[in-house]
Amino acid sequence: MQETMIEEAVACYLGQNHYAGVCLKAVLFDMDGVLFNSMPYHSDAWHTVMERHGLHLSREEAFLHEGRTGAATINIVYQRQYGRDADPELVKQIYAEKSEEFARHPEPERMAGAWELMQKVKACGLTPVLVTGSGQTTLLERLAHSYPDTFDRAHMVTAFDVKYGKPNPEPYLMGLAKAGVAANEALVVENAPIGVQAGVAAGIFTVAVNTGPLNGQVLLDAGANLLFPSMQAFCDQWEQVYRVLKG
Ligand code: CA
Repeated sequence: MQETMIEEAVACYLGQNHYAGVCLKAVLFDMDGVLFNSMPYHSDAWHTVMERHGLHLSREEAFLHEGRTGAATINIVYQRQYGRDADPELVKQIYAEKSEEFARHPEPERMAGAWELMQKVKACGLTPVLVTGSGQTTLLERLAHSYPDTFDRAHMVTAFDVKYGKPNPEPYLMGLAKAGVAANEALVVENAPIGVQAGVAAGIFTVAVNTGPLNGQVLLDAGANLLFPSMQAFCDQWEQVYRVLKG
């Protein structure tokens, strides 16, 4: 990607949000599909457990709902089949089973390029913040091992903190508050259309990394300001992106 392309994307972002400029201070990272290569396991666990309850959610569709809270995903499918929301007890039951099923898969690896990118972000003096819709405690605990000294609890937004969740801007607005920065002082890294929508709705410059099976166009349609084919590609171009965003 040419640096002029990045400059154009930033100019477009500033125009849309009526900001005078950008001054990068924090990077808001989504977790699944960004920090961990965990989405294939999630989509498989969703499909298996929903079928067990007579609810139809293909592995492919699970990727489209990525980033929603568990309850929201369950209710979308339940509404489609029965025309009403699922009983809260059933939602709790299905989500507990889904978490259990996910934990039966091998431990997810760090996404290629994510560790290296994190070191670059830290070396620039930027604050990393985690913003995930996940309530998967096994994976949240694994963060401390896979990304040591990176996210303390004061710089994490998870399913346990939010009321609405992505695509509502709420989680990213909470992430800004936790970092103590304004929207034009942050950058969102997302891999899912719903997550991109949330970042854009929060008024934050949003970088999409297409680490799953979806066509990259859906991420641009969701409003992504920049699109990279992988975390490694974003990492490799970090210096150019940072030069433009540091203000
Ligand atoms: Ca994700």
